[in-house]
Amino acid sequence: MSAALERVVVEAGHSRHLECLVIRGGRFRLVRLPALVGVVRHPTEGVVLFDTGYAPRVRRAAAEGPLRLYPWLVPFSTDDATSLRSVLARQTIAPEEVRTIVVSHFHPDHVGGLRDFPGARLVATAEAWRHVEGARRWRALRLGYLPALLPADFRDRLRVVDGFADAAFGPFPATHDLFGDGRLRLVPLPGHAAGQVGLLAEVSAERRVFFVADACWVSAGYQRPALPSAVARLVTHDARALRRSLERIHAAWRSDPGLLVVPSHCPSLAGGRACA
Ligand SMILES: [Zn+2]
Repeated sequence: MSAALERVVVEAGHSRHLECLVIRGGRFRLVRLPALVGVVRHPTEGVVLFDTGYAPRVRRAAAEGPLRLYPWLVPFSTDDATSLRSVLARQTIAPEEVRTIVVSHFHPDHVGGLRDFPGARLVATAEAWRHVEGARRWRALRLGYLPALLPADFRDRLRVVDGFADAAFGPFPATHDLFGDGRLRLVPLPGHAAGQVGLLAEVSAERRVFFVADACWVSAGYQRPALPSAVARLVTHDARALRRSLERIHAAWRSDPGLLVVPSHCPSLAGGRACA
């Protein structure tokens, strides 16, 4: 058995939203939501990222046609210093060391930094990709998808995961074992976006980290569990699937004291105040 996994959570840009939109029962106040990225160092497969946060190119990618509405709908903040590439450089991780990026889903705050890692293999579910592939203009806006964020060779580098046939994880009947060693497993979390996927990292025999993307935006979402507001659910792909994903995360968390659950936008995981 080689060395254990190392993992960290870093922030790459942020957005601001009303707490009452982020989670049902939240207050009428603006909250700062970090765009969090999972960074895992696998003993033989190198650095694996879970998503890539915002980057300045997100603004440029939203500069044409109906997509210009995106920054109005999602007020975000990004600059060179807070982009994932810069954040990793400060942790002495060079872009070439990143060998795999798991794309949870195709919203801009998850794929904004993809172009900064030209050597990485990209992993997404077939359903997530099918849903956005070829979308332009109004359809792209409705899906929250900015096509210009994807690298030109995206399709060549994409490893599509079509189905989950590996070991169960608690209430999740099946997973996809990324490297065949059980250390990193993709977990289906549909609902927020079509084909969304989470990543379960076995850090040690006692410690697991579960990156759950936008199945909930803040930790109270899986702990209660509670859906986002009715307004936010208007942009939810499948509210019933979202509820099921959330209930499964909640059950996994309740039954496993060694499990750290990481929603992609929880302020408390970035040193901020907890929401709701
Ligand atoms: Zn999202």
